[in-house]
Amino acid sequence: MANQVPLLELKHVKTSFKVPQGVLKAVNGVSLTIYKGETVGLVGESGCGKSTLGKTILRLYRPDEGQVLYEGRDIWSYRGREKKQYTRKVQMIFQDPYACLDPLSVVSDIVAEGLRIHRMYEGQALEDRVTELLQMVGLGREHASRFPHEFSGGQRQRIGIARALSLEPELIVCDEPISALDVSIQAQVVNLLKKLQKEMGLSYLFITHDLSMVRQISNRIAVMYLGSLVEIADSEDIYLKHYHPYTKALLSAIPIADPAVERSRRRILLGGDVPSPVNLPKGCSFCGRCPDACDQCRREAPQLREIEPGHFVACHLAGAKKTVQK
Ligand code: SF4
Repeated sequence: MANQVPLLELKHVKTSFKVPQGVLKAVNGVSLTIYKGETVGLVGESGCGKSTLGKTILRLYRPDEGQVLYEGRDIWSYRGREKKQYTRKVQMIFQDPYACLDPLSVVSDIVAEGLRIHRMYEGQALEDRVTELLQMVGLGREHASRFPHEFSGGQRQRIGIARALSLEPELIVCDEPISALDVSIQAQVVNLLKKLQKEMGLSYLFITHDLSMVRQISNRIAVMYLGSLVEIADSEDIYLKHYHPYTKALLSAIPIADPAVERSRRRILLGGDVPSPVNLPKGCSFCGRCPDACDQCRREAPQLREIEPGHFVACHLAGAKKTVQK
């Protein structure tokens, strides 16, 4: 990725929330760059902070520490028109295609809402643009006057994608966009996102817990555990060589379509409980579940280190060359 242009950079971002038990550290020091035209897959179990990170990028949550840079500028330095421009350039596709559409609005109003707010089109040009957007996602003019309940889950997700595309974004945070869909429809939506990326030069942060599907769309994959990134590498690379024990466990759980291979392979079952993000353990936060944990792990939190070109791992036992965060 060295010759690519950074679009969005997260630098040691921490986002936390006050809860009755204390402070919940949802995102705990994440550094990550998304390049122009790239898809970064962000994977991890439910509650690990993936969606909070996505919403921090969208400026819905303000980080307590660290910076979110868009084309080199801190997104919290924007005022007035610049702030509005940022909300146009960075869009979101939501997880639940049933809950994310206003049930009382017809599709044309849902897709046109952003265009009206940003005064990008009006009158006949607005109508034509809505039709064009619906056609881009595989729907048609005849769908514009219908209500969301008249569509299947896959079609609703297409409406959500048309709405995200309406403002001509550069980066889309896809927050588990396929997890509520049937498997056959998931592939259609992923193929649609890939096609649109090619046509429009989009960048995606693709949040999911489905490691088999994220491989189809991502250039790089970042694995998140308890608010921190524990491994980042090129998509194909991480499936061949994975070093963090958590990544190993996740990948060992992907079902394989060949029954003979599926029966013979070893699945890694993690013991222990996920610690509370309100009360993170000292040292490595994966310590209580890690089969390889040693004394050093209980004392010191490991940093992301580049152990092979472009392959970063946060584990004391993974080989290291230098200590650069990416
Ligand atoms: Fe396991 Fe230690 Fe590596 Fe953490 S640092 S993942 S506890 S081996």
